[in-house]
Formats: sequence, C-alpha cells, structure tokens
Amino acid sequence: MILNQPKHVHYDVIILGSGPAGITTALELSKQSSLKIAVIESGFLQRYPTIQTLANVQLHGDFPDDYFPMHTQRCFGGTSTIWGGFCAVLEERAFTAQEWPIPYEELNQWYPAAARILELPDKAFRQPKVAIEGTSELVYKPFYVSPPVRFNKKYHSFFQHHPRVDLILGTTGFRLITRGRTVTALELRDSLVPELSPAVVSADNFVLACGGVGNPRLLQLSDIVEQMPVGLGLMEHPHLYAVADMYLDRDRLPVGAEEDPHVINALQLSDSYCVEHGVLSFSADFNLQQMTPTVLMGKRREMLHTPVTIRAEIAPDFRNSVRESDQRNYLGIPMPRIDFNYRYHDLARESWHLFGKALLRSGLGRPSILPPEFKLHDGGHLMGTTRMGLSVDDSVVDSNCRVHTTDNLYVAGSSVFPAGGASNPTYTIVAMALRLGAHLASTSRGNTHG
Ligand SMILES: Cc1cc2nc3c(=O)[nH]c(=O)nc-3n(C[C@H](O)[C@H](O)[C@H](O)COP(=O)(O)OP(=O)(O)OC[C@H]3O[C@@H](n4cnc5c(N)ncnc54)[C@H](O)[C@@H]3O)c2cc1C
Repeated sequence: MILNQPKHVHYDVIILGSGPAGITTALELSKQSSLKIAVIESGFLQRYPTIQTLANVQLHGDFPDDYFPMHTQRCFGGTSTIWGGFCAVLEERAFTAQEWPIPYEELNQWYPAAARILELPDKAFRQPKVAIEGTSELVYKPFYVSPPVRFNKKYHSFFQHHPRVDLILGTTGFRLITRGRTVTALELRDSLVPELSPAVVSADNFVLACGGVGNPRLLQLSDIVEQMPVGLGLMEHPHLYAVADMYLDRDRLPVGAEEDPHVINALQLSDSYCVEHGVLSFSADFNLQQMTPTVLMGKRREMLHTPVTIRAEIAPDFRNSVRESDQRNYLGIPMPRIDFNYRYHDLARESWHLFGKALLRSGLGRPSILPPEFKLHDGGHLMGTTRMGLSVDDSVVDSNCRVHTTDNLYVAGSSVFPAGGASNPTYTIVAMALRLGAHLASTSRGNTHG
C-alpha cells in the first residue's frame, strides 16, 4: 500500500529510503511471506522543490556547488529517477586484494537477478570481461546500458497492491533510538509540515538505504558512531571525458566489441595486473567509428582512431568525509558537511602511462599523451561512507551489511563499498541489496506485534 504515514506501530523490517537499494531490498524481503515491511521515503511520487532542499549540503573541496542538489533525488525511486543506466560488474581486483571482506563469488551470484531488475542482457553477467589474445595485462570490458530502469515507474504497482509492504511517502527519518545493541525505533518527521510532532515507529530490523550521504548522517544523528569510521572515506569515480586518443588494431579486439548502442566498449588494466603492480582499477572507453591509416609496430596500416574517456578508481581517503555542519535544514535537522578532494591528477598520469605501456606491449595499439591540463568530472557515485570490513577500527558494517555495534541495523547501497572499482555502482548496489534482502528474509522471524 502507498501511504502518508505508517499503518502499523511495529513492522518486522523498516527500510529507510526508496532508491534502487531500498526498493530492491524490499522486493527480495517480500518473498518471505510472513514479513510486514515498511519502506519510508522523504519525498513523494513527484518531486517537491522544498523536499529536494533536504539534499543540500555544506561543501568544501572539489565538488561543484550544484553537485548535491543535482545528484541525490529526494522522491520515490531516489536517484534512479535521473540516472544514466550504465552498468558493469565491479572489478575483482579489490576482492583479490582483500579490500572487500567477502569472496567475489558471494557478490557474483547475485548479478544475474540484478541484471533482470535492471533489464540488462544476459551478456552483462556472462561476459563481464573478455581476455584479449596475446596479453594478460589488458582485458576488454563492456559497460551495458539499462533502458534506464526508473524504479519509481517500474515498482509503483508493486507497492500499490502488495498487502504486506507499505510505502510511506513524505516522511523523513530523523534518528534511530537504541537500547544497548538493539535499535528499537525510528523517529520520523513529516517532510512538508515540520511543526507536526515527531512520530515514532518500531521494528525488529532496520535497513538504511538513504544513499552515500544519508546513510552515515543517520548513524551520526543517532549517535551510532563509537570508534567506527562513520562518514569517512567518501569515494567517487573520476571521469576524464575525451581526454586523450588511442589507435587500436580493430582485428585484435575481441568479438564482444560490437557497435551496439547498448554497449560502451572499454579496455581495462586486468585485475591480475593491478594486484601484481598495486594499481587501482582503470578503464579507457573507446568507440568503433573512425578508421584511419597510421603506423604501428613499424608498419603503416588502417587503425581505429578513437577518443578516450577514462573512468577510474580512487582509494578511500579518510580526509574525504561526511560530517555534521553548523547549518540546519527546514526540518531542523543539522545538514551534512562534505569535505572532498579527488587528489587524482598525478595518479591519472601514472595510470595512463602504465595503461599505455601495456597497450604497446600487447601490440594492440598505441596511446596519445595526456594534455598538461585536464578537468576531472564527477559520476554522481557516492561510495564508502559506511564501509564494510571485519573490525570497528576500520569499518562500519560487517560482511552481512550489519552495523558492527548493533544487532539489528543494516545498511544498503554503495556506502558499504570498501573499494569502488572503476565501474558504475548501481548494478552492484542492486546485487548487494538482493543479497541483503535474502539474508534478512532468512533471519527475520515475521511475528509482528500489531
Ligand atoms: C546524473 C546521474 C547519473 C547517474 N548515472 C549512473 C549510471 O549510469 N550508472 C550507475 O550505475 N549509476 C549512476 N548514477 C548513480 C545512481 O543513481 C546511484 O548509484 C543510485 O541511485 C543509488 O541508489 P540508492 O538507493 O543507494 O540511493 P538513492 O537513489 O539516492 O536513493 C536514496 C533515497 O533515500 C531517500 N532518503 C534519504 N534520506 C532519507 C531520510 N532521512 N528519510 C527518508 N528517506 C530518505 C531519498 O529521498 C532517496 O529516495 C547516476 C547518478 C546521477 C546523479
């Protein structure tokens, strides 16, 4: 049912946030036939300019002023209402390097179901990367394009008709109330009428699915921080659009590289190369449009001449953070302060240099040089602020996405990524939300009290 306030005082599971992470968790949980579930969302079916201002932050660093109003949408469906739909599986590098505390296979088994939700072709999980003959240093990596799925449109009818899943709109989660290790309730504010007294709703389990800024802020506002790095290590994907060129031997590219409008073609440093050389994931997009004569390996021949867009990984840096600012929003909630600097220029040069050498060694092609000045662009991918790990000293959630210091509070979304790879995050967000939903469905009792 779609409501403006909770129907029950107690749910089995409350999910805060109705973007891809929250909706997918609810879909998977709803398969457990006895659970009463609430998805609580700040916004409504349509955008309200006032409510959208809840996405505003105090900014320090590299992000442009319009980054947050543009990049986090406060409405049903969250940021999927404006996303671009580019999808690729997360690189295995960070799992091999043990930055993620779960085996890669744990995540990989959820990609087929995630691909169905995002309406991606089977190739999106069957051919996540393709070896290139004659080199182990580079792989061909296709990025597939979702229609893009707008979660608000696709799942409106699911919420409208489901007897046990309530979607509660226009209601903002303010803070969680705890007793020892147990979260007992969630305090709510009406998103349009702040003067109304706060409501409280309880649950056996809670899931935060409020995005890369909202998730750590809820923990901070609820004093669930202890010594954990809540809000620290914010990551984005630096994008360098058409920043260089490369010439490629068309005949040496794998058959997967096709002129399909639903595929973005890219070459990447292979996971094994990255792990061996201690390099982060690095991806160079190319297109298949322009053939031109040039010299490669001493021979004049027809080559593919393509502009290159780089999409890359940055390491988590605890100086990049989400904290509390000295300003409040119209609901009286302290606004987030974001400190963020890419610090990527030198690494971009070094990675392009390594990539170029690998390209030349492979005989597949040759790169141009990077210009002396180039601009870094953002992806709208906010990751790492409630990172997954084994200990409270360097992480916030455990391998099941449960906040270390609680027994019943979980986090969904890219804020749990301890490393963000060079792939757009939503495919992995959806896969991880399916995994979390299945975990909660298997552990929740489903004996709601009223
Ligand atoms: C312009 C743009 C293009 C993008 N393109 C791509 C792409 O091509 N590929 C890709 O993989 N990713 C892309 N992304 C990123 C993608 O949109 C996000 O990864 C994805 O939406 C994150 O899902 P989420 O559910 O974690 O968060 P969100 O989609 O941000 O949803 C969070 C929800 O929580 C709600 N909320 C927040 N705080 C509260 C609170 N306190 N109480 C109640 N509700 C709350 C919000 O209103 C929102 O509905 C793009 C992003 C942008 C901005």
